[in-house]
Amino acid sequence: MQDKIISKAAEALAGKNGVLLIEFLRGKKDVNEFKIAKKLNLTINQARNIIYKLSGKDMLHFTRKKDKRKGWYIYFWTLDVLKALELAKLLVEKEIENQQHLVKSRENKRFYKCAGCSLEMTEETALNHEFICSECGTLLNINEDKTKLLEMQSKMDKLKRELRSINEELGKLREDNLKKSIKTEEKVKKDKKKQKQKLMKKKVRMEKKEKEQRKNKRAQKNTKNKIKKTKKKGKKR
Ligand SMILES: [Zn+2]
Repeated sequence: MQDKIISKAAEALAGKNGVLLIEFLRGKKDVNEFKIAKKLNLTINQARNIIYKLSGKDMLHFTRKKDKRKGWYIYFWTLDVLKALELAKLLVEKEIENQQHLVKSRENKRFYKCAGCSLEMTEETALNHEFICSECGTLLNINEDKTKLLEMQSKMDKLKRELRSINEELGKLREDNLKKSIKTEEKVKKDKKKQKQKLMKKKVRMEKKEKEQRKNKRAQKNTKNKIKKTKKKGKKR
């Protein structure tokens, strides 16, 4: 479901090639822009054009590396699933808004139709034409057919279902991300604790060693002093 939603948004932004590009990047990380161009059978400029259409709306993000020999930057692209879903949501919300206007207008306005050439217009436009078809001159009749309204309403329902599934996917993804970040945080804490314990142990070991060294030095000094004293005593005698 998630893939379908993102592909639809990519198509709205960058057409068929936008969809192909997203499909190629799916599940990958940091893909070289030259590789993208090759895979899509496009020139590097054509590929960049599509990339910018998608990255301009944050569907993709990049890292870059300097080519040491040529001195220019090479870009590596990754699909941002969360941003892509958020964008898909915005696009569908916009579509719903437009569709709502159409449905309302269909419900509230009267329409006139030419039986001969099926031309249809609002009552306002029909009045301006004195209820005569501008194509064939036939008298226009009020159009009571509800087919169009029903079609519009069913499209509206479809869009609302789409929005619901986008919200579900977004909810799942945000929850996953939260779990992941909590896990990382816990790991960082655990690692820090381990590190601290390690340092403490080392400190204790060092202190013990220093103590022993001091003790040894004192012992050595004492022995030396004793030897000196004995020597002095020996001289006096
Ligand atoms: Zn007509």
